[in-house]
Amino acid sequence: MSERRNIAILGSTGSVGCNTLNVIKKLSPKFRVTGLAAGRNIELLYQQVKEFKPLIISVERREDAEEFKKMYSGPSLKITFGQEGAEEVAHSSGADIVVSAITGIAGLRSTLAAVRTAERVALANKESMVVAGSLIQNLAQEAGTEIIPIDSEHSGVFQCLNKERKEAIKRVILTASGGPFFNFSPQEIREKTLEEALNHPRWKMGKKVSIDSATLMNKGLELIEAKWLFGLQPEQLEVLIHPESIVHSLVEMKDGSLLAQLSPPDMRIPIQYALTYPEREEQILPSLDLRMIRTLDFYEVNHEKFPLLLLARKALVEGESYPVALNAANEVAVEAFLRREIKFLAIADIVFEAVEKHKKRAVESMEEILDVDQEIRMQTKNLIRRRV
Ligand code: MG
Repeated sequence: MSERRNIAILGSTGSVGCNTLNVIKKLSPKFRVTGLAAGRNIELLYQQVKEFKPLIISVERREDAEEFKKMYSGPSLKITFGQEGAEEVAHSSGADIVVSAITGIAGLRSTLAAVRTAERVALANKESMVVAGSLIQNLAQEAGTEIIPIDSEHSGVFQCLNKERKEAIKRVILTASGGPFFNFSPQEIREKTLEEALNHPRWKMGKKVSIDSATLMNKGLELIEAKWLFGLQPEQLEVLIHPESIVHSLVEMKDGSLLAQLSPPDMRIPIQYALTYPEREEQILPSLDLRMIRTLDFYEVNHEKFPLLLLARKALVEGESYPVALNAANEVAVEAFLRREIKFLAIADIVFEAVEKHKKRAVESMEEILDVDQEIRMQTKNLIRRRV
């Protein structure tokens, strides 16, 4: 990659967004930031704008856009807001690469806009792939857009599969750290607080994905994400608990060879690869020292303790609107847990209740997907209201 490439980041003030800017700073001058879309953290966005000098930014709310305009003085900068603002950053920043890192289905529209216009979408927003995998892959094919995963497990699979033919893949194993409650009994988990659920043993991440890691729903979403990214059948996808989070995924080829990708648990590694692929640039972190790590453990998932993974597998098999329902119910339940309205174990109860009632139907357009999403959101909110 010789010439300088333009990058837009959707979700620039989140965990993946900040790590991406950190990587870009190190790779400078190979990349230039042309667009940033953020949520409500305008102080941090302001610092990012001062440092990286994009051409266009967006924030979630109109009042924050107005506030930003008052704060800002400097080179010409377009300041937009809302879903349309994030979409505009995706398609009008002149970005060759769009990093899609908004959490949840809130990132769907801007991800689709990026898939239509960018050369490459570096995908961290797994929920978009879960709810609209078929739509995204079709659009990417039409537009000739590369989708390179940032999610560490999928980056691992992507790296293992480099130059392998799909027909040669027997199965893919995504590893899961097990989250903060892996070693606790269901009785002990019952008493766990929000702070304990957010305190992930291996990864520093945003709140939503930290809670999803504690329930193992994150791994369920990742199974569905992997199906679409790599064109796999549900029976080819497995999960293994691996508390050290060093092996991010494994791919078994049909000749019995098992390939694995290992690296320290730090998002900057898969982010850098998604930006520089097919090239590789100098490492950010010290090399892994396996003599220090010494043992790598692998365990079966305890589905009684983490039932949401089974429900996600059902959604993976059922397809159509089922993953949309699963994702919507989970987003609402996790938000309620983050607001301390429900207990940790209630997340799974509520998601099960909402999803099991759902009659799946075909969802082919973004509008149909958003319809199901809204319907399940309302139902799940009602379920929560009845409990509290
Ligand atoms: Mg992951």
